[in-house]
Amino acid sequence: MRALLVIALLGGIGCGAERDARLRSSAPGGRAGSSQGKAGAAASGKAAAPRTACDYHVSAPAEPPYVVHVTARCEGGGVNGFASTEARAVPFVTATPTTEPTAIHAATRVAPGVAELTYTVDLDGLAQREDDIDVARRFGSSLVAPASSFLLRPSPEQDDVPITVHFDSPAIESGLRRSGDAYTILSHELRVATFTTFGAREARDLSIPGASVRLVLLDGRLDLTADELARWVTTAARGVADFFQRPPASRTLVVLGPLSGRHGIPFGKMLPATAPGVIVLLGEHTAPRELTEDWVLVHELFHAGTPSFVGEGKWYDEGLATYFEPLIRARLGWRSEAEVWREFVTNMPRGLEAMTRRGLEHPGRYPDMYWGGGLFCLLADVRARTLSGGLVGLEDGLRAVLAEGGAASEVWSLARVTEVTDRALYAPILSELEAAHLTAGSPVDLPALFHSLGVTVDRKGELHFDDEPSLLALRHDLVYGPPLVGPVKGGAAH
Ligand SMILES: [Zn+2]
Repeated sequence: MRALLVIALLGGIGCGAERDARLRSSAPGGRAGSSQGKAGAAASGKAAAPRTACDYHVSAPAEPPYVVHVTARCEGGGVNGFASTEARAVPFVTATPTTEPTAIHAATRVAPGVAELTYTVDLDGLAQREDDIDVARRFGSSLVAPASSFLLRPSPEQDDVPITVHFDSPAIESGLRRSGDAYTILSHELRVATFTTFGAREARDLSIPGASVRLVLLDGRLDLTADELARWVTTAARGVADFFQRPPASRTLVVLGPLSGRHGIPFGKMLPATAPGVIVLLGEHTAPRELTEDWVLVHELFHAGTPSFVGEGKWYDEGLATYFEPLIRARLGWRSEAEVWREFVTNMPRGLEAMTRRGLEHPGRYPDMYWGGGLFCLLADVRARTLSGGLVGLEDGLRAVLAEGGAASEVWSLARVTEVTDRALYAPILSELEAAHLTAGSPVDLPALFHSLGVTVDRKGELHFDDEPSLLALRHDLVYGPPLVGPVKGGAAH
């Protein structure tokens, strides 16, 4: 069953880098979110079994130590216990009447078909042991943890059990999907459940047309003001929404975690379920210019607008974000067209190993996968723009996928993404490139590709642009979109 496959292969997506190295790394495993399993409906002629549904109440103190108190209650039968979602949290879960650490706690049957468990999770102890945003991490007097660290899942495991989560304390901010005053998640989504914060310094709603973006600042010293950070995140989120021609999610949580004594943005990560949650680690002494020069925030926000893959396609997931993030920042005016081409000329060779020798599904090292996917996207985009006289680009394929529901919270197959994208591009562009580069390599003439775009590099490493009008227009359309969509900029890219 697909949901079980999802459970087996889930992982988060983390995209961290040291700025100088421009190395994009990621946690193993693919993002994954909800499946569309059908629960409850029985075969024709039989009565439908009562559907299991759960209600969790979560409370926590407003300041450390953060020992989270949870009452979990499931109705409809079939649940006889609650199991830890995050294995590393097991020693920090205490349930009555059980006192010994165990992965599964027996529920109390409080009424026919109703199972209940009251338990606590010492998130502070967990943060002291792990100090990891994947499990729990303190920032000053605040703490961030994915829901998998404190929400046990109903046992035995079933697909698609809806869980309504009530946060009963005021100092909690959660990225889970809102439903009235509460939040919702399906049981199998818990492993990639988004971030929740405790005791944050500040939280505010940002103004993004058609969407809600909740910005949470964790505790810690920062040279930048909250207003400066809010403007940065607002502009980035609007840039991503403009790119997709719609907000990629109705609600997104963006958490900023200060790092004492540091500069820049060393790491970011997005968790997709049930609504995307992005965390970005930010150095205490980061200057305003470093915000717009950095790629991490736009890269993570971009991930919200593409579907998740399980067991395949991670190269496309990361390749899309690697390729389009510089273009989105160019469209925001945060970098020049020439800087975009310099980045592509410099880094696209890093994708040759995956594209020409190993095959994209067997990239070897993570940089091979990011830039292998990035080179695949550049080739696809050039082909789409060339065939359509500049009018249609790969981004039109992404918009079609998102319009059909292919956001980060949903798991799609690569075949479905390819079919919808190629239909939007009016040509079998992705399927032909995949046939050549997916499971094994095929030659790519990178100098010829850049020459066809009028971009050459001399022996000193200087970039030169051929400003013949058709090449100028092609480069402009790739970076900014066609004139009717993107800002028109006259003159050469220098
Ligand atoms: Zn990424």
